[in-house]
Amino acid sequence: MTVLYDSTRSISEPVSGKEAVLQGISPDGGLFVSDALSQIKIDLETVCKQNYIENAVMILGRLLSGYTEEEIESAVKEAYEGSFASDEITPVVKAGNVFVLELFHGPTSAFKDVALTLLPRLLSRSLKSTGKKALILTATSGDTGKAAMSGFQDVENTAICVFYPHNKVSAMQYKQMASQEGSNVRVFAVNGNFDDAQTMVKKLFLDEELAADLAEDDVVLSSANSINVGRLVPQIVYYFQAYAQLVRNGEISIGDPVSFSVPTGNFGDVLAGYYASVMGLPVKKFYVASNANDVLTEFLQTGTYNRKRPFVQTISPSMDILVSSNLERLLYYITGQDREKTAGWMKELAEKGSYTVDDETLEKLQSLFGCGSFNDEETKEVIRRVYEKTGYTLDPHSAIAYGLAEEAQGPVIALATASPYKFPQDVLDALGKAEEEQSVWEALKTLEEVSGTETPEKLAALQEAPIRHEAVIDPEQMKEETRKAARELFA
Ligand SMILES: *Cc1c(COP(=O)(O)O)cnc(C)c1O
Repeated sequence: MTVLYDSTRSISEPVSGKEAVLQGISPDGGLFVSDALSQIKIDLETVCKQNYIENAVMILGRLLSGYTEEEIESAVKEAYEGSFASDEITPVVKAGNVFVLELFHGPTSAFKDVALTLLPRLLSRSLKSTGKKALILTATSGDTGKAAMSGFQDVENTAICVFYPHNKVSAMQYKQMASQEGSNVRVFAVNGNFDDAQTMVKKLFLDEELAADLAEDDVVLSSANSINVGRLVPQIVYYFQAYAQLVRNGEISIGDPVSFSVPTGNFGDVLAGYYASVMGLPVKKFYVASNANDVLTEFLQTGTYNRKRPFVQTISPSMDILVSSNLERLLYYITGQDREKTAGWMKELAEKGSYTVDDETLEKLQSLFGCGSFNDEETKEVIRRVYEKTGYTLDPHSAIAYGLAEEAQGPVIALATASPYKFPQDVLDALGKAEEEQSVWEALKTLEEVSGTETPEKLAALQEAPIRHEAVIDPEQMKEETRKAARELFA
């Protein structure tokens, strides 16, 4: 059976997985989904016998049509062999009554590495048959930019420009980005705030003059954001892999249902879990965990999605999101693949800033998805309580998932999406061990003593890492710098 991809919003000519990775978003503005999803069944016995890489090859092979077996296998191996600080890639540990799925052992110590090491390699293979090259533009408030650069570093047929707000990222985020290596990478500090950079990137994607210039050199602009199926599909793998680890450790038997608690922003991570459940993973419930930006908690409780609310800056910045794009895919599947309904709600969201789903849809959502939100004080309280009770140190994002997981009945797995070493000062503050005027590098040392673990190698090396990118530009210069980067990086 060939899995083809079509839009959530209107019936169009279906494309292969390979083509969907290239296009990113459907021409009608909808997201790529496949009606064949529910016909794919992954055999749990096989999953439990295979290692991460074998399972990734199997699952990607089933979902991403258009690629040869060799292309999938080589992409997976390049992405994961030797680049994660754990043989399991995503190990499960037990802390108290909750299993913690550690997704942060990749090159930048954040869960986005799992997908962003693989997407560039898939994209590169999609590009090959077209003869084109892709220049990725990313505006970042700090974390995504680093994971994207690290993923695209030296990947054939691709280059990447990252724009971050000048003087508005943390000391560690600055060092992570400004020291980035790779012959196909440019990093710019942009005067203004994140929105200024983001607004300009969106403009550049729509700029016909720029597109025409780049086309002369066979360069197309592309993004690496989490609506690309090439980012979604790699995330399905660790849900199966986590289940397999519990089976192998004798914690559950094959067929037993488990629950997952997921710290949520753009809804990509938890949606990948939903896909796994459709493909045969026995899941009792998904817990959608939010910070003070609790749009999804309200939605799952009331059926109304309302983005007209103040944006709150929290200590879990990667979840500071008011429009969770990937929710559109869940609505599509939950409504029995009803494009008209899905498109209608998305139109209301765009035009009025809110929509309300019907009772039947809400009931279906509530039967599978629990929810809850934690403000910063509550998040810190979880970090402190889990540390005192179990000795395990959570980062703020993971703590929110852990806190909500405690409401589950039966075996529950909380997804840990960042290493505590990415947020050492907030974690120490939560533990009552923060010191005045302490630099982030000193905080790493203190956190080592407090947690009895070690700073991930790549983060520890940052303090001494040479600065390779010093450009500070205005938003108005981003277009010209993009042109220049396209010429130089693909030369
Ligand atoms: C991106 C991110 C999330 C949210 O994941 P989504 O797929 O956007 O829901 C949670 N935690 C961390 C650390 C992240 O970087």
